[in-house]
Amino acid sequence: MNIIVCLKQVPDSTDIKIDPATKRIVREGVKFMINPFDMYAVEEGLRLKEKLGGKLTALTMGPSQAESALREAISLGCDEAILVSDSAFAGSDTLATSYILSKAIEKIKDYDLIFCGKQALDGDTAHVGPGIAGDLDIPQIINVRKIRDIKEGRVTAERMTEYGYDVLEAQLPCLLTVVKDINVPRLPSLKGKMKAKSAQVIVWKAADIGAEEARTGVKGSATEVWKITTPPARPQGKIFEGETAVDQLVETLKGLMK
Ligand SMILES: Cc1cc2nc3c(=O)[nH]c(=O)nc-3n(C[C@H](O)[C@H](O)[C@H](O)COP(=O)(O)OP(=O)(O)OC[C@H]3O[C@@H](n4cnc5c(N)ncnc54)[C@H](O)[C@@H]3O)c2cc1C
Repeated sequence: MNIIVCLKQVPDSTDIKIDPATKRIVREGVKFMINPFDMYAVEEGLRLKEKLGGKLTALTMGPSQAESALREAISLGCDEAILVSDSAFAGSDTLATSYILSKAIEKIKDYDLIFCGKQALDGDTAHVGPGIAGDLDIPQIINVRKIRDIKEGRVTAERMTEYGYDVLEAQLPCLLTVVKDINVPRLPSLKGKMKAKSAQVIVWKAADIGAEEARTGVKGSATEVWKITTPPARPQGKIFEGETAVDQLVETLKGLMK
């Protein structure tokens, strides 16, 4: 079983800052980490590899600093790490990002499963997983909370929904995006950390993956950010206390219904 995990390096903070001029995330002077949902994707890949054998490849598109995220993936147990990085990719939106990653995956060639996180903590669109599957023209199951079975070239998985879950079956190769209910990610071992230090991270540029320039970076991006605003702060909730709390609540609700 050859598995690819797409992981994104994101700012290690919930306080994501946007540059008002460029309308892009400020990445200077920020600490980075692997997108939390992608840690679940790595873990699921590791578990399947341990069960079924094969190879687990970590793949990311980003600037050179994203190499540290790939080293972390190796320390957890990934066998190979590929960084797709080119100045032509700067400014890529989700359409261009999906295209670039799908071109890299086409170059990897031999794969049965692709894992992505449900969404990235910074961009937060949840576009990229489905975008890659679309570009590769393979089936996808999103928001997977459990893989039930993989046999006879098919995967059966539980897709989390608002009301519970659906059980879906798809033919391999298939792309799955995962939610945090799927597993508990492991910590790297000392041996893993040592291995990661000296491991080779493969770097591919646009030409290496045959990416068309017109489909990458700002040129290849369909999104134009006009304005970014912060939602207004929610008014504080009201707390009813004491023996008359229920009566107070009922009166307040009646007042709201008038
Ligand atoms: C006009 C515009 C310009 C932008 N310019 C830049 C820029 O210059 N630099 C920049 O870094 N971002 C830029 N972005 C943001 C960039 O488009 C997104 O960060 C990126 O496309 C991923 O989208 P997302 O964060 O919403 O990921 P989601 O779709 O929410 O991610 C879902 C999953 O896809 C996978 N994934 C997502 N991104 C990657 C990746 N890069 N590598 C591997 N796996 C991935 C992960 O598994 C992740 O969990 C720009 C966005 C717009 C709209």
